[in-house]
Amino acid sequence: MNKKAMYQLTYGLFVLTSRLGEKDNGCIINTAGQVTSTPNRISITVNKENLTHDLVMESGKFNLSVLSEKADFDIFRHFGFQSGKTADKFAGYSACRRSENGIYYVLDGTNAYLSGKVEQTLDLGTHTMFIASVEDMDVLSKDPSATYAFYQSNIKPKPAAEAPAGKTTWRCTVCGYIYEGEELPADYICPICKHPASDFEKATG
Ligand code: FE
Repeated sequence: MNKKAMYQLTYGLFVLTSRLGEKDNGCIINTAGQVTSTPNRISITVNKENLTHDLVMESGKFNLSVLSEKADFDIFRHFGFQSGKTADKFAGYSACRRSENGIYYVLDGTNAYLSGKVEQTLDLGTHTMFIASVEDMDVLSKDPSATYAFYQSNIKPKPAAEAPAGKTTWRCTVCGYIYEGEELPADYICPICKHPASDFEKATG
């Protein structure tokens, strides 16, 4: 069995936003897709660790902003590499607007948004899958949607060329952060994007 077959699946990239009471939050997901067309329904799958997960679960509503190839790495850093539990991601963030459902959608680096109303949830252990009807949507630009593969090769910062002579570095394959040292601790967590040691690759100079 070659587990790399999983890498051949295609994914889009999205900012998932929700609102509960006065609390707004958003996170990056790559797990959204249309599941029926009559009526229009979409599925999203969200890690339970994300605050946005709880807002969607409680409010039953969300917006999905579709990231385009024009999306800057800063959008991923802003919504993906910090937690809404410790930061207010919409404080001072102006590239957004509220849709009919009162939830923000993102205007910068996106080409569409869809407003979802949760119809069903499925507990998947680490994640919850939400099936939602689409209550509102609009196209925001003609820029092509960004795929996860496009993000990996064009949006994510390029790796530092090589490790310095005689030194070993470990590069986070998600965000590009460089850890210097012979061995990367097994329980190491990337300080930028919070991904585990298994997402680092070794370079020897
Ligand atoms: Fe990282």
